[in-house]
Amino acid sequence: MISVIQAKVVSTDNIDRKYILVPNASPAITGDGSVDLVCGYCGTALIKHARPNLAICNMIIRCPHCHQCNDTLDMKPGEG
Ligand SMILES: [Zn+2]
Repeated sequence: MISVIQAKVVSTDNIDRKYILVPNASPAITGDGSVDLVCGYCGTALIKHARPNLAICNMIIRCPHCHQCNDTLDMKPGEG
């Protein structure tokens, strides 16, 4: 059972001091868990099969498709 979480699109003004992941292709990370994280703008998969407790919060992932910056801060894996 995969839970799909939509990341929050943010302005680049708000991403200082955060780790920024800039993948060249989708998805940036593939794991062995049950959570998918998708771009909040275009829905491209950013992370596939993350573990619910994986430390992917408080990070910026730039979508390889639309180049929007996605903030994972608000995602709460495993609660949906
Ligand atoms: Zn996107």
